[in-house]
Amino acid sequence: IIKFDKVVKRFGDLTVLDELDFQVEQGEKVTIIGPSGSGKSTVLRVLMTLEKINEGVVYIGGEPLWHESRNGKLHEASEAHLRKMRNQMGMVFQQFNLFPHMTVLRNLTEAPVRVLGMSKADVRQRGEELLDLVGLSDQKDKYPHQLSGGQQQRVGIARALAMRPRIMLFDEPTSALDPELVGEVLNVIRRLAKEHDLTMLLVTHEMHFAQQISDRVCFFDKGKIKEQGTPEELFKAPKEARTQEFLKAVL
Ligand code: ATP
Ligand code: MG
Repeated sequence: IIKFDKVVKRFGDLTVLDELDFQVEQGEKVTIIGPSGSGKSTVLRVLMTLEKINEGVVYIGGEPLWHESRNGKLHEASEAHLRKMRNQMGMVFQQFNLFPHMTVLRNLTEAPVRVLGMSKADVRQRGEELLDLVGLSDQKDKYPHQLSGGQQQRVGIARALAMRPRIMLFDEPTSALDPELVGEVLNVIRRLAKEHDLTMLLVTHEMHFAQQISDRVCFFDKGKIKEQGTPEELFKAPKEARTQEFLKAVL
């Protein structure tokens, strides 16, 4: 459902993605780990069309992201095409980025009504179901500043899900949280990971958690996948010296 084909991304002289080949199948739960600056966030930001690439092609559901094919030729993508591609994905960042002046429920219903044009009644019902899923039914009329960081992040997850994405992207969703609030957010993500059809791509430093929920773990180093495999393979028997060194430092 996601494919990076020899993707190069540079910031000035710095090559952040270095002819990256990377694929995620529908329904697969994939975790990206790796040192700071290895390009993990860039992969997610490219998918969300927040960054352009310099070379290569990114496909989502078989369609090129940055290009549209017309008459068998690839053209620069239109804004409408980018929006269509982006709408298949939900993203949860380190920072919660909720709308501060809206209630919790309204945070969930705003975009589906405005962007997808769904009916208010449907969206409200779905919003309440999602709050139930993340364990926050009793908080729906509160404002973000009245919630803990863990609760805000759970609202962030519910808000992304309200757009009915096929793919969920998480970029270190617990790293801004106090340690005692990490568990409740991981539990929500763990619950989501049981959904067979939902594709999940997660960047995390929670190695134990990655081990539990992932079908596959990819170790990024210098803009490439240095090594990948099942959690068992990667955590218990890493082959590359660079992976061994990294895991030794973080485990
Ligand atoms: P971390 O674990 O610290 O979050 P990361 O693997 O997510 O790291 P990226 O955020 O993908 O790393 O960044 C890769 C490299 O690109 C870093 O060296 C970063 O400084 C650089 N970079 C990212 N965004 C920009 C930008 N807008 N302009 C210039 N350099 C950037
Ligand atoms: Mg990052």
